[in-house]
Amino acid sequence: MQDNDCIFCKIISGKIPSRKLYEDDLIYAFHDINPAAPVHFLIIPKSHIPTLSDASAAHEAALGRMLAKVGELAREAGCTDGYRTMINCGRVGRQEVYHLHMHVVGGPDPLPPMLVFER
Ligand code: AMP
Ligand code: ZN
Repeated sequence: MQDNDCIFCKIISGKIPSRKLYEDDLIYAFHDINPAAPVHFLIIPKSHIPTLSDASAAHEAALGRMLAKVGELAREAGCTDGYRTMINCGRVGRQEVYHLHMHVVGGPDPLPPMLVFER
């Protein structure tokens, strides 16, 4: 369920250090190494799912846990009035690390608009 070449699998197993926020049997949360906002952490499933498009019924428990925990973790990080979650998927979504991860960003009140499209 782990990929030996995957940087986030190595974070889960402790081979690469991380600033851990939370861990249980299904998920792991840690601060993003290059934060885009004052609060920026990632929640990942412990099993190696490359992208959101690779998720299936077998992953429902881990994906559900990610959504069930994000509010508590964001509150603990100081986001008491809101935050934003993002899951970049694949080339078009500009995903860089191919182990599914949910970004949680917050800090500015309010955050900038969700997406800015060039016209
Ligand atoms: P994405 O573009 O959605 O694939 O985002 C990947 C995120 O992983 C980026 O925000 C990176 O800053 C972050 N990242 C990459 N390597 C590490 C690492 N070793 N520890 C923490 N975050 C990382
Ligand atoms: Zn992985």
